[in-house]
Amino acid sequence: MTSQTKFVLSEDRIPRVWYNIAADLPWPPPPPLHPGTGQPIGPADLAPLFPMALIGQEVSAEREIGIPDPVREAYALYRPSPLYRAHRLERALDTPAHIYYKYEGVSPAGSHKPNTAIPQAFFNREEGMRRLTTETGAGQWGSALAFAGALFGLEVKVYMVRASYDQKPYRRNLMEVYGASVVASPSPDTNYGRRVLAETPDSPGSLGMAISEAVEDAVGRDDTHYSLGSVLNHVLLHQTVIGQEALEQMALAGEEPDTIIGCTGGGSNFAGLAFPFLGRQLRGEAAYRFIAVEPEAAPSLTRGVYAYDFGDTGRLTPLVKMHTLGHDFIPEPIHAGGLRYHGMAPLVSLLKERGLIEARAVHQRATFEAGVRFARVEGILPAPEPTHAIKVAIDEALRAKAEGRPTVILFNLCGHGHFDLSAYERHLAGRLEDYEYPAEKVAAALEALPVVAG
Ligand SMILES: *Cc1c(COP(=O)(O)O)cnc(C)c1O
Repeated sequence: MTSQTKFVLSEDRIPRVWYNIAADLPWPPPPPLHPGTGQPIGPADLAPLFPMALIGQEVSAEREIGIPDPVREAYALYRPSPLYRAHRLERALDTPAHIYYKYEGVSPAGSHKPNTAIPQAFFNREEGMRRLTTETGAGQWGSALAFAGALFGLEVKVYMVRASYDQKPYRRNLMEVYGASVVASPSPDTNYGRRVLAETPDSPGSLGMAISEAVEDAVGRDDTHYSLGSVLNHVLLHQTVIGQEALEQMALAGEEPDTIIGCTGGGSNFAGLAFPFLGRQLRGEAAYRFIAVEPEAAPSLTRGVYAYDFGDTGRLTPLVKMHTLGHDFIPEPIHAGGLRYHGMAPLVSLLKERGLIEARAVHQRATFEAGVRFARVEGILPAPEPTHAIKVAIDEALRAKAEGRPTVILFNLCGHGHFDLSAYERHLAGRLEDYEYPAEKVAAALEALPVVAG
């Protein structure tokens, strides 16, 4: 054998802590603000939505936060996840670059999302909750939370974006197998949903709308909390199990990555891989290049503004400072449903603003081409979201080839695409569309940004 393909760790190497990048940041992250008063919110403002343990993690400055044993035991169903060296892709590209990918599609739900769904369900149950509400786009997050709810005995109600509810029945079926109840959003089950339906009966919905519904549902019931699958600090924190394992696996491979790449919808899988490496950089122990890849159809990091905005369309959430296209912006129906979001994680936004990470936007067709190319040599069928990371990893490997220099690339293959085959079918039939950057829609949505200092 030439050299190793898979780098696997034993179960006792499942991380014992989550890594909190806030501890190593040279600048304090801008605080979330109350939409009514414009003042920083406190724990009491968040208590109707989240358990105290998660609120504490959201604002913690501790570098390491311990992972409770029951969470590690549930992680053991699929962690540590494998790191692969993409020998066959390297050969197909005839590049001097070494390409590695961390594969999160081995989780039961098929993506990185259970890394946070499991601890969220655990901490909610510890604090006596009986029920969780959430939104889902393509259905990855909904199926992860449904799975975690089943593990810890919680009821889960999922508001699924109407367009995906109709396009992806199998994801809905999976959530129902895990015991969740799923409704198309906008739905008749909330005041916000009824209002939207009255105005636009055939609304395709959006993540921003579904969040409004799930939040309204949770606030209205004492036994219910809300659960978010991306964007928030505690979600990014939970995802750092990915990067901590990858650090150890890259050491097994005897290499350091030069460039670290992830796709960004709300920023959590990118942060999960990148932050443990970035922490080393912030502490002066190493230096890397980080590239966040987003769709041209929802280019918050590359074309949005860095400003305080709502996380949802119904304007129920706190204001957070992030790269945003405006909370009214509804992205075109690209197949990478997990990347159809108007905003970006505040921590990822801050790092982009300060120049520690780069961002790139790519078109849908090019990402599917990259996904097919990858599947034909590596075998794994990627979800449409990580094809964005694959596209840029291939571009970087080809650039290294053109410049005749060796380099080491690491990207996050954050989910498999077994439920996305109809999108691949469209691609193979030449029927996938590219959407130009919707400049006018964004300009209109940005005019509706809330006006706050800072
Ligand atoms: C949800 C999801 C995303 C987008 O969310 P991030 O928080 O940016 O990671 C990307 N890929 C997959 C497979 C997803 O399920």
